[in-house]
Amino acid sequence: MRVFYATQYVLSLPQGHRFPMEKYRLLRDRLAAELPEVELGQAEPATDGELALVHSPAYVAGIQDGSVDPRILREIGFPWSPAMADRARRSVGATISACRAALRDGIAANIAGGTHHSYPDKGGGFCVFNDAAVAARLMQAEWARTRRRPLQVAIVDLDVHQGNGTARIFQGDPSVFTLSLHGEKNFPFRKEASDLDVELPDGCTDEPYQQALERALDELAARFDPGLVIYLAGADPHEGDRLGRLKLSWDGLEARDRRVFDWAWSRGLPLAFAMAGGYGHRIEDTVQAQVNTFRVALQYARRWQNRAR
Ligand SMILES: [Zn+2]
Repeated sequence: MRVFYATQYVLSLPQGHRFPMEKYRLLRDRLAAELPEVELGQAEPATDGELALVHSPAYVAGIQDGSVDPRILREIGFPWSPAMADRARRSVGATISACRAALRDGIAANIAGGTHHSYPDKGGGFCVFNDAAVAARLMQAEWARTRRRPLQVAIVDLDVHQGNGTARIFQGDPSVFTLSLHGEKNFPFRKEASDLDVELPDGCTDEPYQQALERALDELAARFDPGLVIYLAGADPHEGDRLGRLKLSWDGLEARDRRVFDWAWSRGLPLAFAMAGGYGHRIEDTVQAQVNTFRVALQYARRWQNRAR
């Protein structure tokens, strides 16, 4: 299974910054050490033209040279630096690469990405560019070169926070279906309308979560016929998360991942996944949740391989 990462280096943040930047390196190290079937590769940065499929040229230029409105930077939550701008582009590039690999191999991943709070002309909540949105539009454009039927994309966003940027970007676009399962009382406090929103109460546990997911996937399948799935496998619904407010156990999170991978597999749908959020009281727990997602994903990668033979 091919897995892409944004950069070799950890973006340095001011001391005491609440974003657990280190999790990306820890995850990559664990995948390299424990899961030999994971083929790690560094992503190319997304180009201006690719970003322009979703983002305004002014916003892209402002992030590139640091001239972006300081209020937008404050909402993003990272101080600007050339490394921050480069990382944001490469994170989009990693989801693009993962989508291309998924369309070829069945399943692939980005070990960053899932930056779903990003809008066409602004970022927010640790999100600079919207990787899933750019990748969805680019895959549609690449697909259209050789095929008559357009590529429809389902974005299944199970990060605990609503995918507000993604919802807004694809409002009125019938070729992309946005599904978001999220905490009703959690950030962002002004939510957008996805094609399907499922709001969960604080403290939601495994069983009601699983039922809500089941119903949501059924409804997605009834309303939409995707050719590609982009899955945001946020670790933040876990009970050990500082920001999540839900109470999914390890088993509950694993059942969630398995349900999504199985849903896509049983329909023959290529799936690319990205990590999205995770803010465990213990950073090791966030990384563990993500390693678990990869372990389940590999079972499906093997099935795709066997089918190809
Ligand atoms: Zn989140």
